[in-house]
Amino acid sequence: MNEITVMAPAKINLCLSVLGRRSDGYHDVEMVMQMVGLYDEVLISRKGTGVTVYCDAASVPSGEGNIVWKAAAALLKRSRADSGVAISIKKNIPVAAGLGGGSSDAAAALCGLNILLDAGLSREELAGIGAGLGMDVPFFFHGPFALARGRGELLTRLPPPPRFWVLLVNPGFETSTAWVYQNINLRLTKKVDCNNIVGLSVRHIAANVHNDLETVTAAAHPVILKVEEALMDQGALGARMSGSGPTVFGIFETEKGCRAAADSLSGRNWRVFPVEALTASPLEVYHTK
Ligand code: ATP
Repeated sequence: MNEITVMAPAKINLCLSVLGRRSDGYHDVEMVMQMVGLYDEVLISRKGTGVTVYCDAASVPSGEGNIVWKAAAALLKRSRADSGVAISIKKNIPVAAGLGGGSSDAAAALCGLNILLDAGLSREELAGIGAGLGMDVPFFFHGPFALARGRGELLTRLPPPPRFWVLLVNPGFETSTAWVYQNINLRLTKKVDCNNIVGLSVRHIAANVHNDLETVTAAAHPVILKVEEALMDQGALGARMSGSGPTVFGIFETEKGCRAAADSLSGRNWRVFPVEALTASPLEVYHTK
């Protein structure tokens, strides 16, 4: 095998609770994360020596600045591979949007390289390499539905909830995760227990979606609250910002309801993606143990 294409799914945070600041500069968080059916495509070929990465999105660096480059370099070093790799990324997931696109691309690259280079690494080993690249990367080895703790790197896989649909609404600008965390006021966060969202009906999940980062992003970009309102007006069972934003998701029980809401919101200046919450991870097949 000389070439492999891996589909890298987006994630949403059904619950994101910031518990406190740590001495290492990060924050302790509790998050319930869910993979959704919007994918980047990561094409990997054996080629030459070293790592080359091309990304088709204007705002994302090609080459060493891409998180996928760092992932590939780490895996090549670990597996002592004798050939190089060329990786091409087709971005469909909005960038710097709270949907974990870069982290997912990195996880997909690690998965694809594990097979292509016959590296034989386990899910835990791949997730460990991923944790060194970004705190959202390990989730993509434990999805489709998981609880994250610590800085986000301590994962507990959860049994998938009943099927549901998600309307992603991206208001068309980027946010910086670092900026949002720098501006959070921990005296104002609710210290919600994200476990409360797990194991129950879609309606229960939708009624309990939570994100401590939302007040920070929405203070700078009030459109976030407008999008939430619009989603609820269109029949969403619950709506919240994902990650550090600005993408907002609405939860729907049926595909029909989700697509109808997408149609009525698509007339505005927003990008809308009606997608299914995944009940299996597309990356599952690439781990060896
Ligand atoms: P998270 O939800 O995990 O905080 P995000 O979805 O908000 O992440 P990303 O889309 O992963 O953010 O992008 C964050 C930054 O990483 C961007 O500024 C982008 O230029 C950079 N980046 C590097 N490699 C990639 C990649 N493969 N895809 C997207 N962004 C990348």
